[in-house]
Amino acid sequence: PELYAIAKEKGILIEKVLILDTEEGVVDSSLEGKVAIVTGAASGIGEAAARLFAENGALVVIADIQDELGHQVAASIGPEKASYRHCDVRDEKQVAETVAYTLEKYGNLHVMFSNAGVLGPQSGILELDLEGFDNTMATNVRGVAVTMKHAARAMVARKTRGSIICTTSVAASLGGAGPHAYTMSKHALVGLVRSACSELGDYGIRVNSLSPFGVGTPLVCEAYDLEPSGVEANSCALANLKGIVLKARHIAEAALFLASDESAYISGHNLVIDGGFTVVNHTFSSL
Ligand code: NAD
Repeated sequence: PELYAIAKEKGILIEKVLILDTEEGVVDSSLEGKVAIVTGAASGIGEAAARLFAENGALVVIADIQDELGHQVAASIGPEKASYRHCDVRDEKQVAETVAYTLEKYGNLHVMFSNAGVLGPQSGILELDLEGFDNTMATNVRGVAVTMKHAARAMVARKTRGSIICTTSVAASLGGAGPHAYTMSKHALVGLVRSACSELGDYGIRVNSLSPFGVGTPLVCEAYDLEPSGVEANSCALANLKGIVLKARHIAEAALFLASDESAYISGHNLVIDGGFTVVNHTFSSL
């Protein structure tokens, strides 16, 4: 408060506050005072984002169906900053209850990172597994739409200029970069983001998506029976950008950017984190 008073007296505008901690060095505060829900946060990209959001000052609700892992992630972030809530995004009631729990516990909702997703069946079109297709769409599309619906309701009711982010994939830009149902579901999300942003802009709510390239998380490791290092080796071999290994932390950093005021005028955008993979046709360079 004293520093703010001095700045005010001298007519200095404070844009950003970095809190200095003697043990941890500089603590960034770009989400200070903000409340976030991260779905699919018991593992992988969601877990990395929940940790980074909390490191940057947010209060985080970890929403997932893997209860044991989710509780562990919340406990390791610290009970003062994070809590776990069982939430199957295929069930609207559970999503509504998770948003209500967040409002009750933390008083507001500024960020919905709707990240939960499944890879779904890997069958070809000729043998398309329709039950698996329905589950993929129910999780990856309907699940995101319903989290958007309830997060936006909470933000509109409280006049909160919030940020809604979902996780698509490079498979939202290309065919052949994932199984069929997965590719369809991730293309649908780009449409959902654009459509929702056209309505929610009236309320100052931003809606964006992230499109990662291959990261060594359980989603990929389990589907292809690989260790994280094997997934990373495959991604590195296919990558356009060399000399760097894509980690969940890189995707979390992009999520932090879209969640924070650093991206205050960005909405309806699909932020592709692929080192240029989807915009370069490598067949030419091998000629
Ligand atoms: P992950 O398996 O580590 O995490 C996914 C999480 O979603 C898990 O904790 C899982 O329990 C949760 N989940 C699944 N179904 C759910 C449901 N019905 N309700 C609530 N939670 C549910 O995988 P990840 O790679 O971190 O995946 C996160 C997102 O990133 C997904 O949407 C995925 O499609 C996307 N993605 C991943 C990659 C990659 O290479 N790993 C690339 C592009 C996009």
